[in-house]
Amino acid sequence: VKIQSDNFSSSHVRVSLRVRPFLPQEIEKDGSKPASCISLLDQVGKEVTVHLKDQTTSRNECYKLDSFFGQEDRINLIFQKEVSSVIPGIFHGHNATVFAYGATGSGKTYTMQGTENELGLIPLAMSAILSLSKSMQSLVEISYYEVYMDRCYDLLEPKAKEIMPLDDMNGRVQLKGLSLVPVSSMDEFYEIYSIGVQRRKVAHTGLNDVSSRSHAVLVIAVRNGGVNGKLNLIDLAGNEDNKRTCNKGIRLQESAKINQSLFALSNVIYALNNNEPRIPFRESKLTRILQDSLGGDSRAFMIACLNPGSYQEAVHTVSLAARSR
Ligand code: ADP
Ligand code: MG
Repeated sequence: VKIQSDNFSSSHVRVSLRVRPFLPQEIEKDGSKPASCISLLDQVGKEVTVHLKDQTTSRNECYKLDSFFGQEDRINLIFQKEVSSVIPGIFHGHNATVFAYGATGSGKTYTMQGTENELGLIPLAMSAILSLSKSMQSLVEISYYEVYMDRCYDLLEPKAKEIMPLDDMNGRVQLKGLSLVPVSSMDEFYEIYSIGVQRRKVAHTGLNDVSSRSHAVLVIAVRNGGVNGKLNLIDLAGNEDNKRTCNKGIRLQESAKINQSLFALSNVIYALNNNEPRIPFRESKLTRILQDSLGGDSRAFMIACLNPGSYQEAVHTVSLAARSR
């Protein structure tokens, strides 16, 4: 397979926006939809400008990003435009990472997992990799883990067993002992993955809704002859605006960890995109784990998800996404 040219330049992390539709409960009783606070203002060359507007105060701001997906755009379009081109490289030993970023309720999990009616980026990528692996006669395996409060849990092990990240000689983190399960069909994939998804929901008994407060990483690893490549598909923890939420105790600690790791990720992406000599991978557990899949020959894409009805959240999400570029 020839590596097709893609819209990534070396090391560059693309950052895009996706606005989800209003949900039935967000639509007025008379059936009218509230106005979206996010719109595409301009598309010039390889850049889009988005406009955020607060409907009540008329405050507004503009940000530049790599691409924009509106309420009508399907996940398959995002896959075709932003993800499919990185897949052949994985069979040549390159790594790639897709992040879904945004507040809780903005559509991260919907975009990554999809629903019964619409395939998400995870099954779309899985299916593209499986079909390529048939013609290349390569081995496909998956891992699925969660990073919560800087600890890693193997979602393909009973009770989501904790795994200890080990530092190797290069200062990178290795997830020694993480399960790696061979997958040869979509049926097999769904069977394994859905157990992990279920486990993610029930693993932390006593704690509320950990699933939106942890990063979930699905790894699709390809062994093609002597070459290993992998795609990380990450449903990030919901970013939180501590100025607006009144978190206390464990919630505040969780929230601090989440924001710290998301900020570290944004710093790493910024450093990569601006060709800085030093990339601050060491600032968080997540960025250390992902060090081999960001920068260098790797490809990465962040989709920042937005609720069209929340201006404050949109500003919080888009400002961080835009400053990563
Ligand atoms: P998050 O993972 O960011 O917390 P979810 O993916 O759970 O958010 O989405 C929040 C809600 O919005 C869910 O009810 C989901 O079904 C719905 N939703 C998200 N994106 C879309 C979309 N593109 N089309 C229709 N409904 C969506
Ligand atoms: Mg979610």
